Amino acid sequence: MKTLEESIAAAMDAQQDVAIIPFLPYILQDFWGLGTPAEIVIKLMQKHCMVVGTNNHSSLQPCVLDLGCGKGAVSVKLAAALKCNCYGIDAIPEFIETAKEKAQEYGVDTLCRFEVGDVRKKIEELDRFDVIIFGATGPIFDDYYTALTALSQHLTDKGIVIIEEAYMDDTNTFQHPLIMPRRELLSQFQQAGMKLIDETVGNYSEFADIAKEVENITIRCNELKTKYPEKSSLFENYAQNQVSEYDALENEMIGAVMVLKKKDYQRTYPLLSACGLNCGLCPRYHTNGASKCPGCGGEDFLTKHPSCGVLSCCRRRMIEYCYECGEYPCKKYNGSITRDSFTTCRNMLKDFEKIKTHGLTIYQSELNQKVQILCDLLENYNDGRRKNFFCIAVNLLELEDVKEVMAHVSQELSPNLPIKEKSMIAVRLFQTMADKRDVVLKLHKK
Ligand code: SF4
Ligand code: SF4
Repeated sequence: MKTLEESIAAAMDAQQDVAIIPFLPYILQDFWGLGTPAEIVIKLMQKHCMVVGTNNHSSLQPCVLDLGCGKGAVSVKLAAALKCNCYGIDAIPEFIETAKEKAQEYGVDTLCRFEVGDVRKKIEELDRFDVIIFGATGPIFDDYYTALTALSQHLTDKGIVIIEEAYMDDTNTFQHPLIMPRRELLSQFQQAGMKLIDETVGNYSEFADIAKEVENITIRCNELKTKYPEKSSLFENYAQNQVSEYDALENEMIGAVMVLKKKDYQRTYPLLSACGLNCGLCPRYHTNGASKCPGCGGEDFLTKHPSCGVLSCCRRRMIEYCYECGEYPCKKYNGSITRDSFTTCRNMLKDFEKIKTHGLTIYQSELNQKVQILCDLLENYNDGRRKNFFCIAVNLLELEDVKEVMAHVSQELSPNLPIKEKSMIAVRLFQTMADKRDVVLKLHKK
């Protein structure tokens, strides 16, 4: 990861020359807005996350997090126009001072809070926001996948991320160290569990008076050259770099303000839970009536398990299973793997290891076979008292062993035997296999 100074220099198009950072407040003194045009953000917020009344005042006041807020132009104008609460963070103290002054000038200092800090660290301490603005600060987190994965944990379920970014048309062969083709940008959004829902595209000149901006920067750099002749190449390079950046923005790149939302979360395979339980082998999954569980994340799951911390956590991270999480196995696993609930959790970690080694498809195929075998046992070999036993046995024994037992079951048992006898023999055969494998076929309730 870049140092804070490197990421500031990159975000400010300074080719990562950190020596320029102390001079940025002077060079950029003529600008208030340093990136995303506030007017566009206001329109996008009105469209996507506000209920706007007939008097043009919103009936919702979303909480906005403005990362790399610069001098607060977006937050202050948003607060003034939409009466929303804004929290801006920027690494340059002079920018934050200006942001606070502007908030007072616009009469929104009670709605806006500005702080100096490294957004990559500060974000970890924060709660969730309805809107996260991440304007022209892409390089701070290395890439958009990393940025959005971190940010989506601080976004409410219906929240939006607003990004100002320039990208290259996919057919353009122009090369720039920080600017990606559109398809690469969209792919990073997608991988981070986000989808693009709106976009205001325009040539950069529609957003700003480029000639005036270049002129102001050049004047300030020339003043610094006179004041610090020993650093004149630093200012010269910065000014030249800005000219070529503006030129590329005007002629090669597409400037856009994009709105992203979390993709809808839906688990695709409720037979295996987010935390690694084999729901398809759980007695509650094989129950009829009101207490039937549809499996983790299945239809109406939340009415059976209104508050599952693990599932909510996976949902926030847009992952289906904990083993896909960078923090796995986190503290939620401490203790929970020694005490069984409706089903055994003895093999949760081991089963996730199998998936990591052999792949999810193979694991699911084996689990499907086990579920089928269990259905057969419950239908044809259960005298009414053996459901839990068969669920545990099929769950804890390896598939090959389960199949071997079933081969004996069909050899030894005539279909015409009374159910009580069939049940007893099937249980004995499973118990013999479990003893051979040193597997205890009981739930651990303590
Ligand atoms: S009760 Fe738990 S383990 Fe059983 S099916 Fe439901 S979610 Fe899965
Ligand atoms: S491993 Fe822990 S932190 Fe990661 S998704 Fe699962 S519960 Fe959440």
